[in-house]
Amino acid sequence: MDRDYDLIVVGTGFASSFFLSAYLARCRADARILVLERGRRDTHAWQLRHRRPASTTPQTTFVNRHRRKQWFYTPALGGGSNCWWAVTPRMMPSDFALQSTYGVGTDWPLSYDELEEFYCHAEALMAVSGPDDRSPQPRSQPYPQPPHRFSQPDQLLKKAYPELFFHQPTARARLATAQRPACCASGVCHLCPIDAKFTVLNEMGHLYADPRVTLVLEAAVQSVETTGRTARGVRYIKDGAEVQAQGQLVVLGANALFNPHILLRSGLSHPLLGKFLHEQVAVSATIDLDGVDNFQGSTSITGHGYMLYDGPHRSQRAACLIESWNVPTLRLERGKWRQRLVLKFLFEDLPAPHNHVRIAAGDPAQPETVYRNHSEYAQRGIDALAEALPEILRPLPVEKIDFDPRPSPTENHILGTTPMGTDPRRSIVDRGLVHHQVRNLLVLGGGAFPTSSPVNPTLTLSALSLWAAHNLLT
Ligand SMILES: Cc1cc2nc3c(=O)[nH]c(=O)nc-3n(C[C@H](O)[C@H](O)[C@H](O)COP(=O)(O)OP(=O)(O)OC[C@H]3O[C@@H](n4cnc5c(N)ncnc54)[C@H](O)[C@@H]3O)c2cc1C
Repeated sequence: MDRDYDLIVVGTGFASSFFLSAYLARCRADARILVLERGRRDTHAWQLRHRRPASTTPQTTFVNRHRRKQWFYTPALGGGSNCWWAVTPRMMPSDFALQSTYGVGTDWPLSYDELEEFYCHAEALMAVSGPDDRSPQPRSQPYPQPPHRFSQPDQLLKKAYPELFFHQPTARARLATAQRPACCASGVCHLCPIDAKFTVLNEMGHLYADPRVTLVLEAAVQSVETTGRTARGVRYIKDGAEVQAQGQLVVLGANALFNPHILLRSGLSHPLLGKFLHEQVAVSATIDLDGVDNFQGSTSITGHGYMLYDGPHRSQRAACLIESWNVPTLRLERGKWRQRLVLKFLFEDLPAPHNHVRIAAGDPAQPETVYRNHSEYAQRGIDALAEALPEILRPLPVEKIDFDPRPSPTENHILGTTPMGTDPRRSIVDRGLVHHQVRNLLVLGGGAFPTSSPVNPTLTLSALSLWAAHNLLT
């Protein structure tokens, strides 16, 4: 039996690390914190030598029932920060109120305005680079870093859509920080060769060296131990042996695959626990340009288009965020090599209960994902794109559009499964990410998202961790 801790944190990805950073800033000098991480500490140098892309690494920690839909994460100190692409847009204010604005989906139990301060804090911790003129979302502070350089097609889109096309916000450094060099636009962002993107290891590693923190690696948490409405601690496996740790407060940050699995194995059942597994749905288009070269940008993805994002269409079909890619994809014709633009279109999805995580039948120690399909709402958004695309691209000298309407098998985001809400019958955690039944248990991460919005989720889930810590400690 491990000794009594003030706080036990499960996982070391964004959700846990951002919570821990806020907790350490406010807790007592003699606080005792236990952090349990199932993975190892793989240094950047080790990763450069040995790590393969997440998509080519066999997943051994969960069972995927529908292989055409894939889910990826990195089981290591720092979690998904090791493999992410560091795209960090905020959600739009309307994304928090989809039901009351457009009559679809669910409203979040908190507003954009309430989260805004924590968005700023999360962006500061990641040293996010973003637009310096105006921004699609209201902001109380400028971005910590200036924007990356646009490519030439981006410049044409910006001129045509000054209010709808922006520099992509990103935690791929525009300027060197004390820990990281500036991005070199290698386009190999899943493992940055020069360590320029934000990771937990390069910017938040100091949290795990804090004398108040005991970090145990290769420790897989099995369950939260509870008595009535109180969490007493956790049970975990280390070196093949079962260990129990006692704590006053338990925080799960094991992502939306493993948090529900741990809760299910803890006997904390709820009809909606594990349900509503979802993520954004994305398609792409390759556009050949006549006389305009591409790939002058200073990072791998340079632009964000909001031309198909917000508006009355959202009562019928999904919002879409457009990404403009600066990773070279060359044409074969002489003299036209760089006259090509790749756009990616990310659509929001409406989560459905038939897509879910459950305890694997053959191996209760693993979660199992069951994913039938994305929503008709998302599909209607994709269907409308083919018609809208030529008009959107009118400001560019388009030679040919090659639009692929087949969604990619993954966007690498894992959302839903422990949704937040005000009604304990229809949600697992409250607006402070506290478990509705067990009031000293927090369940962090993308699992809390009641709806996805079209934007990449990690900045928002990191801001939510800061918000949760703030609510708990003030
Ligand atoms: C290739 C790729 C690219 C991506 N790019 C972007 C991007 O550009 N922008 C964006 O917003 N998002 C991106 N993401 C998604 C992003 O990585 C996740 O949203 C984010 O990592 C989620 O943070 P988290 O802390 O909730 O979970 P994770 O980062 O997955 O961390 C969970 C941690 O918990 C540990 N853990 C799990 N189970 C247990 C257990 N039982 N006991 C102990 N520890 C456990 C895991 O090992 C892991 O370290 C990308 C993901 C991938 C795979």
